[in-house]
Amino acid sequence: MTAAATTAEPYTTVIGLEVHVQLQTRTKLFCGCPTTFGAPPNTQVCPTCLGLPGSLPVMNRHAFELAVRAALALDCKIASFTKWDRKNYFYPDLPKGYQISQYDLPFSSDGCLEVIDPKGGFSRKVGIIRVHLEEDAGKSMHDEAAGTADSRIDLNRAGTPLCEIVSQPDLRSPQEARAWLNELKLLLVYLGVSDCNMQEGSLRVDANVNLHIPQPDGRIAKTPIVEIKNMNSFRSVERALTYEAARQWEEWQATKVELGKMPKQTRGWDDPAGITRPQRQKEESSDYRYFPEPDLVPVTVSEAELAAARAAMGEPPAVLRKALEAKWKISAYDADVLVNQGRELVAYFEDLATRVGEGKAASNWMQQDVLRTLNERGGTIAEFPVRPEQVADIIARVKNGEFDTSRGREIFAEVLATGKGVADVVAGLGIAAVSDDELVTLCKELLAANPKIVADVQGGKEQAAAGLIGQAKKKNPNVNPGKVRQMCLDLIRGM
Ligand SMILES: [Zn+2]
Repeated sequence: MTAAATTAEPYTTVIGLEVHVQLQTRTKLFCGCPTTFGAPPNTQVCPTCLGLPGSLPVMNRHAFELAVRAALALDCKIASFTKWDRKNYFYPDLPKGYQISQYDLPFSSDGCLEVIDPKGGFSRKVGIIRVHLEEDAGKSMHDEAAGTADSRIDLNRAGTPLCEIVSQPDLRSPQEARAWLNELKLLLVYLGVSDCNMQEGSLRVDANVNLHIPQPDGRIAKTPIVEIKNMNSFRSVERALTYEAARQWEEWQATKVELGKMPKQTRGWDDPAGITRPQRQKEESSDYRYFPEPDLVPVTVSEAELAAARAAMGEPPAVLRKALEAKWKISAYDADVLVNQGRELVAYFEDLATRVGEGKAASNWMQQDVLRTLNERGGTIAEFPVRPEQVADIIARVKNGEFDTSRGREIFAEVLATGKGVADVVAGLGIAAVSDDELVTLCKELLAANPKIVADVQGGKEQAAAGLIGQAKKKNPNVNPGKVRQMCLDLIRGM
């Protein structure tokens, strides 16, 4: 984290985010069309999502349930009564000429999501202004066929359920914004609310940013708020905000134009160029001529439905981190690494830790061997060929002194490569526990060959015994270094 750089700046960067997530439903928000990604253009449409005259929308209750689950996990108040509104605007990929959204009575509001840097860089409680539901528009495709200047419309996405999450302007740096988005995404995936697949457009981010600049008279000057659109990765969000803060600082120094002196500006992020560019001026909400959707009844939410949504939530990431720390006595950093990999990996870890009987060794093996290998290979933890009982077996054998950790790593790699069981691999590598008699014989040979080390130890320098370990491993790679050391010390004391 660039905490030092942030405090050195003569201004505070103030950031609020608007996140659109596609809900994980099989069908659209107001019709039965599938939401499957990647189908040929305009094959997942019907009279309702095409906006044909006479067609009527019917709300997908499952989409509503998922949205309520997300809002509860974000600590929002859920309205017992909520309604739908038409947001009117003209755009080629919006066949009805309006989008069904929620205006003055969103289904939830007043929430909070905290983000904590496990390395201690920052911790920030970010307020949630509102969470509402709306349908997505279609997709315009420009110049897709080489050599033509065609624009085409794909309406497969029109009517897909979106949850819009609007934060308070509580974030104070581009790094915080990125970390908060990571936490939000993790939460939504944990909840089963969205797959948050950014390549498929399941999660999109707009950011509002301006600067608060302390003045010599004690007043805080605020620069005009800029909304940045068109960001398709969290890395882009961080870069765009960093760029925009610097740009606003330069502009402020040149113009001294403050918030309220010009309309809110919308800028687009050009990722390859690494800059933001001005876009059309954003409509004020009066320009959208919102009015209640006459074809849909308002939605009421019962206490029983809220209880069901709470029951379906499971442990959110923040709760799970604390639980792992307490139960398995691992550090906040280790818990963070494990939880950030998803619920399945946490289940793998807990299975392993239960078998091993403690968390620290399990956590070390998870991070140094399982996770590292998983990242190299790709795929999910469910498909990972080495199972928790096998890792637990290796750890137990290391603890028993059958072999040391580096030997254990070789065995782990061999189990992974061959699919054999741990016992077979151990036998195949010629690894056998060294008997006490063998160990005594070997240590006696070592002491006879190293009178200098023996003299050093006798003179009080016990650490000199370390010089015997490498020699012991050369004679017999199966020996346990700890046992060799102890045996040699015991033999020297008995001399
Ligand atoms: Zn449809």
